[in-house]
Amino acid sequence: ANTRTPLMAGNWKMNLDHHQATHTVQKLAWTLKDAKHDYSTVEVAVLPPFTDLRSVQTLVDADKLDVKYGAQDVSAHLEGAYTGEISATMLAKLGVTYVAIGHSERREYHAETDALLNEKILAAVGQGLAPVLCVGEGLDVRKAGEQIPHTIAQLQGALAGIPATQLENLVVAYEPVWAIGTGEVATPEDAQEVCGAIRGALGDLYDGELADATRVLYGGSVKSSNVAAIMSQPDVDGALVGGASLDPEEFAKIVRYQA
Ligand code: PEP
Repeated sequence: ANTRTPLMAGNWKMNLDHHQATHTVQKLAWTLKDAKHDYSTVEVAVLPPFTDLRSVQTLVDADKLDVKYGAQDVSAHLEGAYTGEISATMLAKLGVTYVAIGHSERREYHAETDALLNEKILAAVGQGLAPVLCVGEGLDVRKAGEQIPHTIAQLQGALAGIPATQLENLVVAYEPVWAIGTGEVATPEDAQEVCGAIRGALGDLYDGELADATRVLYGGSVKSSNVAAIMSQPDVDGALVGGASLDPEEFAKIVRYQA
């Protein structure tokens, strides 16, 4: 048995204003309290839009919630003339724990490259944030059976030159692009195949200790009805949940997949 604490992280994408964000986190925390959820057995995080972070922080602080929160992206720069960007320093000041880096929607719509993601990871870890590095193949790559080399190349590119000492809080999310927002979930075996390969590659790039400690999440149309099967796989340590995380009762059911 491994010692990794499963993580359920809700990626809200560009949804929910700051009032809705407060209500959603409140409802999530109440639902989990009713269920007597033990956050030390399954960790819970939400990744709201930047504009909601201060409201979520205020609520979490005021009610002493165990829900963690994070951002969906971060600048590679720490300050300066980068109009429209948000730095890791700013996020750290808001009590942010996690930051998603290289989500497929950012790779696709903002042309983010592995080299840029590498800089973003360095910026994040330098400020004590835990990067949730998103990797995964599109449908054409999957059809060609190239999902493992494709995903491992993304992992290697994003981590190039970063020493293990800076990756203590690294989380990797395997998100096959064809399963994101499509309702088409990977089979538990497909998820295991690539999540296992990611762990193996971390062992090759670094060492067994880092590979063993790093949480590898699956993401792509996770719902309360399919999460338990995916979580039964040995190398799947949680889920990055998009659409289903906007409904706090459904997300609470995902968190409570063992119940
Ligand atoms: C995501 O955006 O990270 C995601 C997995 O989305 P969905 O759960 O909606 O497929």
